[in-house]
Amino acid sequence: MKIAVIGTGYVGLVTGTCFANMGNTVWCVDVDEKKIENLKRGIIPIYEPGLSEMVLNNFKQRNLNFTTKIQEALEVCNICFIAVGTPMGEDGSADLHYVLDVAESIGKYMSHHMYVVDKSTVPVGTAEKVYTRIQEELSKRESNLTFDVISNPEFLKEGNAISDCMKPDRIVIGINNEDAEEIMRELYKPYLMNTENFIVMDIASAEMTKYAANSMLATKISFMNEISNICERVGADINKIRKGIGSDKRIGYSFIYPGCGYGGSCFPKDVKALIKTADEYGYGAPLLQSVEEVNNTQKLVLVEKVKQRFSTNLLGKVFAVWGLAFKPDTDDMRESAAITIIEELTELGAEIQAYDPKAMDEARECYLKGNERVTYCESKYDALKGADALVLVTEWKEFRSPDFYEIKERLRNPVIFDGRNQYSAKSLAKYGLDYYQIGVRPSVE
Ligand code: NAD
Repeated sequence: MKIAVIGTGYVGLVTGTCFANMGNTVWCVDVDEKKIENLKRGIIPIYEPGLSEMVLNNFKQRNLNFTTKIQEALEVCNICFIAVGTPMGEDGSADLHYVLDVAESIGKYMSHHMYVVDKSTVPVGTAEKVYTRIQEELSKRESNLTFDVISNPEFLKEGNAISDCMKPDRIVIGINNEDAEEIMRELYKPYLMNTENFIVMDIASAEMTKYAANSMLATKISFMNEISNICERVGADINKIRKGIGSDKRIGYSFIYPGCGYGGSCFPKDVKALIKTADEYGYGAPLLQSVEEVNNTQKLVLVEKVKQRFSTNLLGKVFAVWGLAFKPDTDDMRESAAITIIEELTELGAEIQAYDPKAMDEARECYLKGNERVTYCESKYDALKGADALVLVTEWKEFRSPDFYEIKERLRNPVIFDGRNQYSAKSLAKYGLDYYQIGVRPSVE
């Protein structure tokens, strides 16, 4: 098949590459000229395990092409995926202007029947807006070309995106005619072990499915964080409770880890956008509002612990921060808890020695740009030198089993604040380290 993917970000680049890897010919289109130029020279704009090799391979075999000209791609393709961003607008709703700009270009430049597939996360009713915008452009040039709009929400997880795309749990398709279903079935057949996982529904339900999925996952996280906060107060241990409840098959073990709040490009904006959609229909969505509220407070839980241990005035204090990305195996820092934590600590006068295996450029050049109280370190141990405490924010594997003697040796005070409950309080006590984690009363010498 010949496929255009508009938007070459985390979703567009990964899905385009995975389509190419199965033998399709793909044109990845982006308005960002530098990004496209770099991709043509083999420079991959994001860190995603396994992506670089796959892009280079498929580019070499000419299955994968990069361009800034949508017209070039639309001339040869009959399927066009929209994979541009839908960031949070000022009022919390999804900002659809990138999606509708693409729809406008499709209407302007398509030269034969087109299957337009929306992969971006968009509120119910967007497919209709996309349809109208394309039709308006076609009418302007008095064209009677036909097209279908299909909804195909994306469920990949950054850090595991290639595997999620090559072996998806499910493919959700929203359609309003059988032809559209047939072409999508053919496209996705090689990726699915089981045809039951190809789930077809109406377009509104497909659009809503993505918001429901992300809101459910965000709810699980905020629920566990709420229970953690109660645990700390009553003297119970969330790590034991997690095992105790996860063993119930109706609950399960996944997504019930306590932590310092969810971030990333999806959960915060999608929960907000769903609240906004509900509001537009006169429904307050109180549960989702609480999910968001709990998360906002949770991002500050580690800072509260630091203040209690040290002082509300942190002038002269230095903290080593391990992890900046919103989760491991990505360089994505969008809405990362690390941003809130570092901004808050530096606001109180502290200096930060930060280390992340992949996200330091993002921090330096964008999310913590201009914060002169932050120094970036070469290694996790360098970050500890002379620091008053270690604050662990992202659970990268390399932080899982560190050398605790080295940690104690390098820190000015033997204190660890752990936002991801990575260690055992018992063993840390043996090393003489004071350990503050989430949902457990601190073990302090
Ligand atoms: P992103 O910001 O990484 O990439 C979007 C890309 O679109 C950018 O490179 C931008 O330059 C490009 N773009 C903007 N306007 C364009 C235009 N008119 N023509 C061509 N390119 C244009 O975004 P992302 O993280 O890949 O997310 C894309 C969509 O997928 C969003 O709706 C998001 O909610 C959804 N989604 C994201 C993830 C994820 O983990 N990142 C997972 C599932 C769904």
